Amino acid sequence: MTVVVEAKNLRQVYKIRRGMFREPAQLQAVGGVSFAIEAGRTLAVVGESGCGKSTLARMVSLIEKPTEGSLMLDGSDAVNTPAADRKRLRQAVQLVFQNPYGSLNPRKKISAVLEDPLAINTTLDAAQRAEKSRAMLAQVGLRPEYAARYPHMFSGGQRQRIAIARALMLNPKLLVADEPVSALDVSIQAQVLNLLADLQSEFKLAFLFISHDLAVVRHIAHEVLVMYLGHVMEQGPKDKLFSRPLHPYTNALLASTPGVGGRNVQRIVLKGELPSPLNPPSGCVFSSRCPYAVERCRAERPLPRPVDERIVACHFAEQFLESGFGETPATPGFPEPAAVDNVFLAG
Ligand code: SF4
Repeated sequence: MTVVVEAKNLRQVYKIRRGMFREPAQLQAVGGVSFAIEAGRTLAVVGESGCGKSTLARMVSLIEKPTEGSLMLDGSDAVNTPAADRKRLRQAVQLVFQNPYGSLNPRKKISAVLEDPLAINTTLDAAQRAEKSRAMLAQVGLRPEYAARYPHMFSGGQRQRIAIARALMLNPKLLVADEPVSALDVSIQAQVLNLLADLQSEFKLAFLFISHDLAVVRHIAHEVLVMYLGHVMEQGPKDKLFSRPLHPYTNALLASTPGVGGRNVQRIVLKGELPSPLNPPSGCVFSSRCPYAVERCRAERPLPRPVDERIVACHFAEQFLESGFGETPATPGFPEPAAVDNVFLAG
């Protein structure tokens, strides 16, 4: 299958002003993320608010240039894009936003919402644009005559269908969907997710799907990338991560969502808040909240490495594979289980 997007070691660092006489602080929002998405496949990026997933989405959708790293999109360099390629690449990646109420211009009819990208980027005449917009409305399950209406005349689910239709008007290769169903009722969420899956298989679209909701991710993803404080904690096939997570953070996320994890998921609850990215913990970035953290974790950052068909950034991933999260493996240096027994969660 064709690789649509390939990111290598993407980093995004912001400078934060701290007053007139102090040096700006450096905030690393994304610290070296790599992945590839093939046509017809979905990579879901999950993590708490502030973990860097939306920054990653903005880099991949060419809204922000990464501080470091490479991004290949549809066969071209998307970081140092030759001028001749810029327009094509901007068409190849399209966004669907979280809020279907804010993402459509209330003063424009749906026909204009859908046809504007064609008027700007193609040579289609007015009749061809109208025909394509009506066909696209039918494709997303809406009546073609709705083209004459305004956004306020639609429900949230219908507006998100219109936003998806708009994103598809230029035949993109990659759809970046940033929490696309989190503002919708649960019953409508399933309909929109099914629509996205149908469109993906019909148009062979690659999806970068940003979500904090693991039930939604289980429904739509092929691969999952778990982020914490800008770093990858675990990354690999959905079935592997959901049935047997090897990173304590993945396990904790699964344990906090009833009904999504396999029987190997242990009840770990995270203490405290996400640390400030301006002052991340030393060593493993998860060490301040990890119930298994030992001295080595605070001194040495675990590098992401392959374990059991996925990538894991934890010193003890092999031991967790062997013994699960609830028992003490025989390996010397493995954290004592008491550290786990005493964990009480704060959501
Ligand atoms: Fe926890 Fe240590 Fe693994 Fe980090 S390296 S996830 S602190 S056990």
